[in-house]
Amino acid sequence: MITEFTREPTSKCRKCGLEFKDSYSVCPHCAGKNNAQIIRDIHIPHSNQMRENSSIGRQFIYVAIIVGCCLLLFI
Ligand SMILES: [Zn+2]
Repeated sequence: MITEFTREPTSKCRKCGLEFKDSYSVCPHCAGKNNAQIIRDIHIPHSNQMRENSSIGRQFIYVAIIVGCCLLLFI
């Protein structure tokens, strides 16, 4: 519960959608960037990461199916 008090309050940036501390007057993620730069630097890497995560999830399902088939063969 102590961490709740020591954690600084954050706001969600309207421009880039990332969280930043209330003590900053401007969002450090997108200060001085135009919309094209925000999309290139923040949104594109973000979506690439999400795609990677979902492909890992798919691989896990394939492995689970293969293991399931192996178990059926052995029984
Ligand atoms: Zn921002």
